[in-house]
Amino acid sequence: MTISWTIEGVREAVAAKKVSARELAGEFYKRIEARNAELNAFLTLSPERAYAQAERVDAMVAAGKPLPPLAGVPLAIKDVISTRGIRTTCGSKILEKYVPPYDATAVERLEKAGAVILGKTNCDEFAMGSSNENSAYGPVRNPEATDHVPGGSSGGSAAAVAAGLAVAALGTDTGGSIRQPGAFCGVPAMMGSYGRVSRYGLIAFASSLDRIGPFARNVKDIASVLQIISGRDPQDSTSTTAPVPDYRAETEKPVKGLRIGIPTEYFGAGMDEGVHKKIEAGIELFKKLGCKLLDIHMPHTDYAIATYYIIATAEASSNLARYDGVRYGLRVEGDSLLSMYRKTRGAGFGAEVKRRIMLGTYVLSAGYYDDYYLKGQKVRALIAQDFQDAFTKVDAIVTPTSPVPAFRLGERTNDPLQMYLADIYTVTGSLAGVPGISIPCGKVCGKLPVGLQIFGRPFGEARVLQLAHAFERAGGADL
Ligand code: GLN
Repeated sequence: MTISWTIEGVREAVAAKKVSARELAGEFYKRIEARNAELNAFLTLSPERAYAQAERVDAMVAAGKPLPPLAGVPLAIKDVISTRGIRTTCGSKILEKYVPPYDATAVERLEKAGAVILGKTNCDEFAMGSSNENSAYGPVRNPEATDHVPGGSSGGSAAAVAAGLAVAALGTDTGGSIRQPGAFCGVPAMMGSYGRVSRYGLIAFASSLDRIGPFARNVKDIASVLQIISGRDPQDSTSTTAPVPDYRAETEKPVKGLRIGIPTEYFGAGMDEGVHKKIEAGIELFKKLGCKLLDIHMPHTDYAIATYYIIATAEASSNLARYDGVRYGLRVEGDSLLSMYRKTRGAGFGAEVKRRIMLGTYVLSAGYYDDYYLKGQKVRALIAQDFQDAFTKVDAIVTPTSPVPAFRLGERTNDPLQMYLADIYTVTGSLAGVPGISIPCGKVCGKLPVGLQIFGRPFGEARVLQLAHAFERAGGADL
């Protein structure tokens, strides 16, 4: 069984009894056993829950019952997403022993659709990072080039799918953490619009930006997973009641005549030559597919990184206040309440998380709130306006996902600013709330994947998937 499984492949094989869901789960655990020591993509495996679910699917097959859409599909879940009875660490020492008493809505929906949850994937601590080197449990290696980072913060999920250790995976994206690791590892990766997927059970980093979304081996599989996890959830008041289209069917629609905007601001200094050439070739491919290309301007792009790091850290400093040694996770005793707080947070959080709490506390403090946080919110509105203006002229926006391909392990760890710049092309869409996908667009240096990013209108996921699928089918990954 060496085929690279897709969701469709699994469905057909399981329904035709060519393989049982149990055998398939067993095969994936064997693969994980063979590669995880090197890649460090999984932090926790959940074989008991996986096999119990596989047996339920196999019983349905045996009884000749109609199978749900993800019957028997082995999936991985980023370790910031709550799973009932399965340890959920957020890549942090402070939650090393935390076992959630409930499932995130996305996980619950996937299991209801027949998916088999193999385990939890490594990530930057509390999803803060762009290389997966901020995990308290060690970095993840990029399966395409193991001396390189997989991107972050959802590096474990991206690596698991790229290495064939899961058919698809869930990640989370606050400023680029689905799209950028997708680009670095060479797999499609998507964040839906803010509000498209319930955040219930997603352990918060920055609540106004956090989104759950899929990694998969092809765009149709992305559509299949997004379909299941999307839609209103009464447990998350920011989840939308907007209807969920049939994303898989939408991918088949013709793209001829669609208008694609190419924002000049996304092709600036600091961009790798090789990446630039591949993206140019990708844009040419859209032209060959009959799309109309338009140069557009998004004048506030330059302010996106600064704005993101004000808003995201402000929200993080508030969200992370709950780890106080009383309510969740680690507790280090001290001689007073204050010393217990200090010792717990001092020992439990890593350097990057502490840096963000300090930055976030600073921008929210009296005297600085107006200059930083409030101004940040105003600029955020201007960035969203850039997108709104663009979408009066075009149907989608195409950019590079990242200015550089995967960098070497350790290359940027001593320079937080360099690390923050890895997300220069992804944070804009995060601030604006629009959907975005990264799809493979060739490789540089013979091995390092390049990602092309497509943004769509709010709740225009179908259009994004349609363009991504056409690009993939036309050979975009091999440009
Ligand atoms: N790299 C960005 C950060 O460190 C984005 C992270 C994310 O999307 N979770 O905040």
